[in-house]
Amino acid sequence: MSPWLPYARPSVADADVRAVEAVLRSDWLTTGPNVEAFEKALARRARAAHAVAYANGTAALHGALAALNVGPGDEVLVPAITFVASANAALYVGARPVPVDIEPGTLLIDLEDAERKVTSRTKALMTVDYAGLPVDYDGAKRLARAHGLRHVSDACHSLGASFAREPVGSQADVTVFSFHPVKPITTGEGGAALTQDPSLAQRLRRFRSHGIDSDHRAREAAGSWAYDMVELGYNYRLNDIQCALGVSQLGRLDEMREKRAAIATRYDQAFADSDVVRPLSRPRGREHAHHLYVVRIEREWSAATRDEVFTRLRAAGIGANVHYKPFHLHSYYLREHGTHLGMCPAAEQAYGEIISLPLHADMENSDVDRVVEIVRRVTGPLAASSSTATE
Ligand SMILES: *Cc1c(COP(=O)(O)O)cnc(C)c1O
Repeated sequence: MSPWLPYARPSVADADVRAVEAVLRSDWLTTGPNVEAFEKALARRARAAHAVAYANGTAALHGALAALNVGPGDEVLVPAITFVASANAALYVGARPVPVDIEPGTLLIDLEDAERKVTSRTKALMTVDYAGLPVDYDGAKRLARAHGLRHVSDACHSLGASFAREPVGSQADVTVFSFHPVKPITTGEGGAALTQDPSLAQRLRRFRSHGIDSDHRAREAAGSWAYDMVELGYNYRLNDIQCALGVSQLGRLDEMREKRAAIATRYDQAFADSDVVRPLSRPRGREHAHHLYVVRIEREWSAATRDEVFTRLRAAGIGANVHYKPFHLHSYYLREHGTHLGMCPAAEQAYGEIISLPLHADMENSDVDRVVEIVRRVTGPLAASSSTATE
């Protein structure tokens, strides 16, 4: 029996381990020099003026909406197909996340549906670079400008990607990254919010640390014990140990992204002639971060349903997954926020057909081939009449 192949797995190199060890032997464990070094490196990489490290991506989304003054009574447009954290962040600030449908080819937000859902209460447009593919940032910017909305980019999947040669992180009012272990780079848990606007950066820093107006080093520099809590904030800081890992991982981002791209291409080629297994489309002019490899199992042509493909892969030791159940179909949203089936038909249909196949930087070609073989065998015409195939 082959070893378990997970859908995602962090790539931790010796250099990463040494970076963490060095911090443990230093004077700093929480906010120290590595936090600033990581923030600077992230900002440089994403061509943003400011990066503010957060405890995780969800906390950074919370900070982004708070910094943009999104609050009670406001609405935030959120694509239906995303991790629940995107929508939940709107609830944290008392706003209402409004589910927006997706484009069937990419599963990215449908900006026309977003425009239809703008009301006098809409305050922000949150886009999601689903699977690592950047949204149409120009289109999002136009929509936001036309309706006076702020644009938050949930780029938890897309660190290292770019749209029209501009890196993700430089284009929205605030861009959020996650460094959870399955994401393009990891700090164990972690996140960051990036912006070009110095006053937003200041709000993001303050919100991260109890709403207190300056950090301890600024106070030391001023020779003063005084600090003032000017708004309600949280303890959402990322520590020096995590940031040292982040700096080291960021240095390996391109190498890891190239490996992911090669695996995605191998999958694409394997499924190129299939009517049944359809990879998501990749519009030109965008560099992909290849966070997830997602295919649709075409209902009419496949000998097996998506659920059957999922079960067969799992039985063969392959960690397939489904990203994501549309947020408005979760029982909490149905029960507490009045969402219902039918709000986003394209997202709801996609949810029944999509499956994420394993994709991570340390996968071998033979792993890819094993996945492809099972998917083809299960979905192909022979699979319908044969339940005895072994794997
Ligand atoms: C991972 C993820 C988040 C949350 O990030 P955490 O660091 O796990 O809090 C938010 N949105 C999307 C789309 C994600 O994939």
